[in-house]
Amino acid sequence: MTTLFTIANQKGGVGKTTTAINLAVALARKKIRTLLIDLDPQGNATSGLGFDREEGKSLYRPLHGEGNARDFVLHSREPLLDLIPSETDLSAIEFELGQKSDPLTQLKRCIEPLRRADYSVILIDCPPSMGILSMNSLVAADALLVALQCEYLAMEGLSQILKIVEKVKQGPNHNLKVGGILMTMFDIRTNLSTQVVEDVKKHFPALIFKTVIPRSVRLSEAPSFGQSIFEYDPVSSGAKAYMQFTKEVIRRFQLTLGAL
Ligand code: ATP
Ligand code: MG
Repeated sequence: MTTLFTIANQKGGVGKTTTAINLAVALARKKIRTLLIDLDPQGNATSGLGFDREEGKSLYRPLHGEGNARDFVLHSREPLLDLIPSETDLSAIEFELGQKSDPLTQLKRCIEPLRRADYSVILIDCPPSMGILSMNSLVAADALLVALQCEYLAMEGLSQILKIVEKVKQGPNHNLKVGGILMTMFDIRTNLSTQVVEDVKKHFPALIFKTVIPRSVRLSEAPSFGQSIFEYDPVSSGAKAYMQFTKEVIRRFQLTLGAL
């Protein structure tokens, strides 16, 4: 059984990609066979794992019904982690899929062969909008993981996301769940961070993950070396937090080891 998570949020710079990279690597290190799909034309998950964005190497063609998504899989340095990278051409796909009669189910269709390819987890990193790419990921996913920055108006952003999830549940994906809310960039020096976490905890006690990701310079430096935090600084507070979060995800979704 593959569990397909999407990390989506209309807001930019909230820690989606940082979470996608480090969750993916931590799952792989916990012996859970994982595929990370970079669905953001910015390609930050691709470069953050040390890959170049190359023309013709992304889900662009499979999303158009050309070729098998399995042929676009790359192996990462982590033995149990694969990646489908992004390329700039993906930015055109929003418009191009919009022209199709069924614009929202293209990702679900092209991911099907990957679900059967022995991954326990497929993780999708989305661009910062609820455009057609992110909506495709919600239609394909079992669960949405929300990365929520500890900042002013976080709750408002969250309620917008939850409204979209309800619409997707009533329409194209009845099975979609909100898998959880991960609070990111927690700053112990500010009352605001603590207040925001308390607020989210009060309103969504079952959804919020116990682990909170601290604001950490090491986490922001790692991607420029093409490394996860577990390679860049395995003893840092960021590495500990992301490993703790990963254990919560494994428990919450009862993830099991991949077959390969
Ligand atoms: P986008 O919407 O542009 O895709 P995003 O939601 O994927 O952004 P990230 O790219 O993960 O967000 O993070 C935004 C910036 O903040 C990056 O420079 C990243 O390195 C940094 N960052 C992310 N998490 C942390 C953290 N916990 N502490 C410090 N910096 C962080
Ligand atoms: Mg990102």
